[in-house]
Amino acid sequence: MTDNKVLEMDNVSFKYEKETVVKDVSLTIEAGQFFGLVGPNGSGKSTLIKLMLGLLKPTKGSIKLFGSPVRSFKHWEEIGFVSQKANSFNSGFPATVLEVVKTGLISKTGLFRFYNKNDREKAMQALKTVEMEDYFNHNIGELSGGQQQRVFIARALVSDPKFLILDEPTVGVDAKHVADFYQLLHKLNRNEGITLLMVSHDIGTITEHASHVLCMNKTIHFHGESHEYKAFSNEDLSRLYGHPVQQLTHNHGEVDPRD
Ligand code: ADP
Repeated sequence: MTDNKVLEMDNVSFKYEKETVVKDVSLTIEAGQFFGLVGPNGSGKSTLIKLMLGLLKPTKGSIKLFGSPVRSFKHWEEIGFVSQKANSFNSGFPATVLEVVKTGLISKTGLFRFYNKNDREKAMQALKTVEMEDYFNHNIGELSGGQQQRVFIARALVSDPKFLILDEPTVGVDAKHVADFYQLLHKLNRNEGITLLMVSHDIGTITEHASHVLCMNKTIHFHGESHEYKAFSNEDLSRLYGHPVQQLTHNHGEVDPRD
């Protein structure tokens, strides 16, 4: 059913000047799926996301979001994006958690307007979903990497997205909080019905949590269910990555003393 399709890429290629970094990519993401996107550094993962978000124009092929070509797609409030660098505010940044979450409403409309009471309620509700409502009045820079990442997820949730894209969200999250972070993603996926696409360098952990895996190095090497991906041998993976890789390497984030 077309209705079920959140993202469709058909034979998409992209080059920055001369170098082709995405080559003949065809894939479909359906409503309710939790996709892990893996691949070595420089394999085109971020470029693929920029193509999905309409920030780059494919050199070839077509991309649809919820059945509409990305170029004419209008419902950007249905797409949430949390970037890799989102959680790196330093302690001097002068914005409260609530203010950061509310900017999620402006970025979707593209228009400056004063916030109303309803916006505040929406922002507080989003903070509640990520279990950060008690911190609404804290300065964003005071929080740990993991807490900031939750706030940036709330910022993406404030417009009620149906599809949430996260670029390496566990970078900067303390090892002991990575499991809680995945709990949150499961809650968003299963309870709130949000389709997820998460870029990760941690193959072992992502294949345990995501329902589906997309493994790329310019072109797609695997697109299917996580349990099938686990059948990839370490030799296959190491060949793809160009260095030794193990399916069950658990690299549980970094240590942040504030967590
Ligand atoms: P990944 O996210 O998998 O690490 P990227 O999509 O960031 O990969 O990069 C893929 C390739 O494209 C890399 O070789 C990178 O150097 C190149 N690249 C990324 N951004 C640009 C850019 N703005 N201009 C030129 N080359 C770029």
